[in-house]
Amino acid sequence: MQSSAVPHLPAAGAAATSIVMDITFYGAAREVTGSCFLIRYRDRRVLFDCGMRQGTFEADKKNRRRFQFDIGQLDAVVLSHAHIDHCGLLPKLAAAGYAGPIYATPATVALTEILLRDAAHIQESDAERETRWRAREGKSAVEPMYTTQDAEKVFPLFKPVPYWKDCRILDEIEFRFHDAGHILGSAITEFEIGSGGNMRRLVMSGDIGPDGQALIRDPETLDHAHAVVMESTYGDRDHRSREETLAEFERVLHEAAETGGHVIIPAFAVGRTQSLLYRLAELDRDKRLPFREVYVDSPMALTTTGLYCRSAGLFDEETLELIEQGFELCDLDFVHFTHSVEDSKALNELRRPAIIISASGMCTGGRVLHHLRHNLWRPEAHVVFVGFQGRGTLGRQLVDGAKAVRIYGEEVSVKAAIHTINGFSAHAGRSDLIRWHDAFTKGNPQTMLVHGEEDSMEALADALEKRRHARPAMPREGETISFGKD
Ligand SMILES: [Zn+2]
Repeated sequence: MQSSAVPHLPAAGAAATSIVMDITFYGAAREVTGSCFLIRYRDRRVLFDCGMRQGTFEADKKNRRRFQFDIGQLDAVVLSHAHIDHCGLLPKLAAAGYAGPIYATPATVALTEILLRDAAHIQESDAERETRWRAREGKSAVEPMYTTQDAEKVFPLFKPVPYWKDCRILDEIEFRFHDAGHILGSAITEFEIGSGGNMRRLVMSGDIGPDGQALIRDPETLDHAHAVVMESTYGDRDHRSREETLAEFERVLHEAAETGGHVIIPAFAVGRTQSLLYRLAELDRDKRLPFREVYVDSPMALTTTGLYCRSAGLFDEETLELIEQGFELCDLDFVHFTHSVEDSKALNELRRPAIIISASGMCTGGRVLHHLRHNLWRPEAHVVFVGFQGRGTLGRQLVDGAKAVRIYGEEVSVKAAIHTINGFSAHAGRSDLIRWHDAFTKGNPQTMLVHGEEDSMEALADALEKRRHARPAMPREGETISFGKD
């Protein structure tokens, strides 16, 4: 009986194709935000990122719906970096019962804690405000998507893993982080899944930074992968060069200094504020900074800058050399961090021209709104935008040339000079992305593009297809792609 069963066993080699090894794309699929992918191998399930969708009413609805996978079956979570569109739904995951490990680099762990506390606080105050106006119309209260308590449930789950350290998370699944050069702690994740001849190397790019960003190292390249899941945010265009960007920044500051008004720079508190401080320090060192006072007015920027200062081990060589010459991001003599609301308000009375860096970067909330209200109507003032301004935001209205805007219900006319400097992106441009993919010289990896609008993805897919003679997949939301087969 036993011997008659033998012919029915699968032939050697056929086993590889029968093993489940796939990825399901739950977010950042033909869109830029909401990064969330489920990697399956046999009965093991690893969630890669758990990001929030941002920007539209539709996005908010999707953030609030039930997770589209079974949380009870998750074995582990791996997090690429601390941006909200990659980590923002972790409190919701914890609130829904996930209590397993969350792997991330130590800097990502620290930044994520800062950002999730802030995100939970925003959720709570938004729900409170909405509940108040609904009550006036006799409508029921709304619940925040998650609370500060939910965010606190996430933190004990973190397992910090430094760059380049092999980390076995499950039987036959291990990974190592490489520097993605996007924000402090950001990682490219190289998984080894399966064993022996069935082992597959899966590289998840996360968000890839541009070469030459201030403070942090350039993104690493890898040369070997069977499968690559790759971001494509700027797959259709290059940024202006760093040299041109810095020259333009300096020109705008000099122009502003001549008119004698304040310079307001709306900037995201994590990453962008620190790279601006670095660039201002460079100008100051070379005696080319035309302002003697720079104020950083954002409590989160203060905490984050402190974290950057404690993370010198992650800086690039240029920054380390500067540190040797005495540069200290937290201790620049022309930079003042404002702590309290009173200090922040006192800036409105400041008569000496100064640079004020404040959040939020798209002017959707935060202290920057006060500074805009006090300065937009002054012809001698300048507002300098250094980041992308999403549709529907106050920042976008100003960039688009609005003659008047509403701030806290009050109409403010726009007389200040509005500048947009586009080259400070934390994302690789098209040429950088193509170069990053070209580095996979050992074989031709099965490529899946994510984290991009359709136009960007198509343009990048065209370029990669020409070079590799295989068109990358552009998965739709909910689509599953197998990567275990040869
Ligand atoms: Zn990011």
